[in-house]
Amino acid sequence: MVKEVDVAIIGAGSAGLYALSQVIRLGKSYVVINGGKLGTTCARVGCMPSKVLIQAAEDFYRRKVLEREGIEGAEHLSVDRPEVMEFVRELRDGFVERVIGNNQKRLAEHTMDGLAEYISPGKIRVGDETIHCKASVIATGSRPIVPAAWQRGFGDRIITTDELFELEELPDSVAVIGLGVIGLEIGQALARLGIEVTGIDMVDRIGGIEDLVANTTAIEALGREFPLWLGHPAEVSEEGDKLRVTAGDNSILVDHLLVSMGRAPNVESLKLEKIGVPLNDAGIPHHDPNTMQCGDTRIFLAGDVTGAHPLLHEAADDGRIAGINASSESSTAYRRKTPLAITFCDPNIAIVGTPWSELDQDQVAIGEVKMAPVGRAQMMSKNRGIIRVYADKADGKLLGATLVCVKGENLAHLLAWSIQQGLTVFDLLRMPYYHPVIEEALQAALRFLAQKIDHQPGPVPDIEEL
Ligand SMILES: Cc1cc2nc3c(=O)[nH]c(=O)nc-3n(C[C@H](O)[C@H](O)[C@H](O)COP(=O)(O)OP(=O)(O)OC[C@H]3O[C@@H](n4cnc5c(N)ncnc54)[C@H](O)[C@@H]3O)c2cc1C
Repeated sequence: MVKEVDVAIIGAGSAGLYALSQVIRLGKSYVVINGGKLGTTCARVGCMPSKVLIQAAEDFYRRKVLEREGIEGAEHLSVDRPEVMEFVRELRDGFVERVIGNNQKRLAEHTMDGLAEYISPGKIRVGDETIHCKASVIATGSRPIVPAAWQRGFGDRIITTDELFELEELPDSVAVIGLGVIGLEIGQALARLGIEVTGIDMVDRIGGIEDLVANTTAIEALGREFPLWLGHPAEVSEEGDKLRVTAGDNSILVDHLLVSMGRAPNVESLKLEKIGVPLNDAGIPHHDPNTMQCGDTRIFLAGDVTGAHPLLHEAADDGRIAGINASSESSTAYRRKTPLAITFCDPNIAIVGTPWSELDQDQVAIGEVKMAPVGRAQMMSKNRGIIRVYADKADGKLLGATLVCVKGENLAHLLAWSIQQGLTVFDLLRMPYYHPVIEEALQAALRFLAQKIDHQPGPVPDIEEL
């Protein structure tokens, strides 16, 4: 059967659905091709279930400070891990149902179930059917990377976040391989639920932090809760019914591996190499991040498949841009938002603005505050970490920040919004700060930062003459 549409959207995940909303708004005919389960990675196996698990783990972990606060009986608290997993799935199922329900009408007869394969830039095959389209959006997402030898050798003792939330019972011991965002979030949550967790990474950075000072602080803070073996690749072998994991001089027997070694874009099944679209080394089409267009073709990319920023809000904007441009005669370039990435570990790790590695170290001033003496953080027993804010040394324009602190997720938003508006450290100091709040720690870091700026707008940075 042959179908003709204006726009074919490949992948009904978050990016694909955001693209779809624009294609519908612009009145184009469409088909959505989806080769897996509906409901999106975010709701099914990503952002949402992981945050439910983190919340349950955090609530149980809180018992450790209760005695100090004069609350008795915490030693009688215990965790029923199968119940925790039930709770995760219960909420998760609700999130998934909501996504499916919200999109049911517009997907209905427009969805094709199967893997899409390009025959030419304007011709796509799905099983026996062929689609002719004026434009297409590739929003096929990504999948966890697992070394083939581990997959072959250790079978279901290898877990990724694709399987984790389906487990009825959690294992007693786990080695988390890869301490990026996902490894840290899940590793800490499992450790807080009483599982013996060992975190391993071949590099000596965690959570994607490039700023060495912040990295050292994050390692110190998280390393209190479970061992972090850094700087050596993990080697794995079978020993009885366990797995032996060795990294450098360290070695441990575990029940399972949680593999969080990054995610690979889903491009292979699209057979893009056949249609002459220029591809990078990872097989991803070259694309313009402001238009999402691949070269001068009518093919657009959106979401994790770009390999750029595997984050929900970026997938949403990719999708919006790709959807608009796929529905238009010519492409419009859109400004991208200030980079913002958050790891929901405790303390939060948040990275905002220009990446540390792209800052000109001769031109940058840094304001820093350690969280140890921050009053509000002490009250919460969460006074670990550091705030590091970067600005242009000449005029104080905010450039970026790395936060390892409680409520880092909120501070990171304030900073991202400020950076995007082109504000300076002085602009931020003239804003109101309530007392006692964690924002005061940011205020202190900004005060230190202000002192290092060449051009001072006035003698007291916090107040402004009328
Ligand atoms: C554990 C975890 C936690 C996360 N936490 C956060 C978080 O807290 N905050 C945040 O911002 N981001 C988070 N993310 C990232 C976020 O979930 C992703 O960036 C986002 O879901 C990507 O959406 P997408 O539309 O690109 O991909 P997906 O939602 O995966 O959609 C891709 C779709 O394409 C389909 N498909 C694949 N190949 C084909 C083909 N050839 N033909 C047809 N269909 C195909 C797939 O089946 C799928 O339905 C997390 C991710 C994970 C894994």
